[in-house]
Amino acid sequence: MTVPQSPFAALMDITPRPPVVFADGQGSWLYDTQGNRYLDLIQGWAVTCLGHSPAPVVKALAEQGARLISCSPAYHNEQSVRLAGALTRASGMDQVFFANSGAEANEGAIKLARRWGEKNRGGAYEIVTMDNGFHGRTLATMSASGKPAWKTLFEPKVPGFPKVPIGDLGAVEAAITDRTVAVMLEPIQGEAGVIPAGVDYLKALHELTAKRGILLILDEIQTGMGRTGTLFACEQAGIVPDIMTLGKGLGGGVPLAALLARREVSCFEYGDQGGTFNGNALMCAVGSAVLAEITAPGFLERVQTASDRLWKGLEALSGRHGFGAVRGQGLLLALDLKKPVGPEIVAEALADGLLLNAPRPDSLRFMPALTIADAEIDQALAMLDAVCRRVA
Ligand SMILES: *Cc1c(COP(=O)(O)O)cnc(C)c1O
Repeated sequence: MTVPQSPFAALMDITPRPPVVFADGQGSWLYDTQGNRYLDLIQGWAVTCLGHSPAPVVKALAEQGARLISCSPAYHNEQSVRLAGALTRASGMDQVFFANSGAEANEGAIKLARRWGEKNRGGAYEIVTMDNGFHGRTLATMSASGKPAWKTLFEPKVPGFPKVPIGDLGAVEAAITDRTVAVMLEPIQGEAGVIPAGVDYLKALHELTAKRGILLILDEIQTGMGRTGTLFACEQAGIVPDIMTLGKGLGGGVPLAALLARREVSCFEYGDQGGTFNGNALMCAVGSAVLAEITAPGFLERVQTASDRLWKGLEALSGRHGFGAVRGQGLLLALDLKKPVGPEIVAEALADGLLLNAPRPDSLRFMPALTIADAEIDQALAMLDAVCRRVA
């Protein structure tokens, strides 16, 4: 007897995946090839910020696709000029380099900081980074990340990323030497389980880096583009970093990321940085459409209203099931389960048609579409409640 081959056999098996195959998406809902529907509180890991196949993104893809998709990065195109202008005006940064993934944007941030250190700090190149931080899956960004499971992976690591515990200003001060060029962190550690750096800590880091003449690099790949209720999370601390990276929500589902820098720091020379697809017209047109939606009057206020509703609902649910606190900002929230039942809840929720993520066994993470309706929040909470009753 021959064993039937898995329909997924031609795909590299890089992570455990359920046998579901998605075919369609609309707003907060995904549909599999069997016609089952799922309420999606993952949204491609905070990527499809306007929900699945939202009209403004579909329109930008169709219109720009018919006009110009890509011309060599050796030329300017109308859409990259337009998006760079809008992003710098919105962020208070001065210049942008577009990338195709968050990891590539962070890789660029690391290169830019090293370039700046070479020119301004006698070749300093070390970047102080955080335990449990996540910056991507290239060799340098894995080295910059503080994921415990990666510690001994793909040796030798790229050197120059001393780690400190997040929230400990003294540890950062102690880690700064003549070789230090920057401090790099996420305003809220997403993959670590939604761990906020805290407004006071961010402010203090901003002051400290300025005083010591080094750079502050904020990885806003997960927290940016309205995810935390403001366009960028750093606005809540009232700071503008020297370098900022964006990804995920920036493209609303298409591969688009950005490296932004203040003028004094934006020191790449010809040949330092580039890439075939970088700043292509099609992705940048989508980025402009997404940014226009998020910055439209009332949009971010609505994110905050939805956040309050989800937060209160999770607190009530937590009370009923003996779980812990809710944490996070805007529509990047987590629920402390106090015991390692996250994976079981996620599996049961999938069977019921609810997509959830457990970044740690003892936590659930919620990153719904920023456009999620009140009725969908209530429905998700009711579904989760039923799952928790079964799991308990
Ligand atoms: C997702 C993420 C990245 C990596 O982005 P990719 O597009 O997957 O390369 C980097 N930093 C943070 C904070 C992220 O959440």
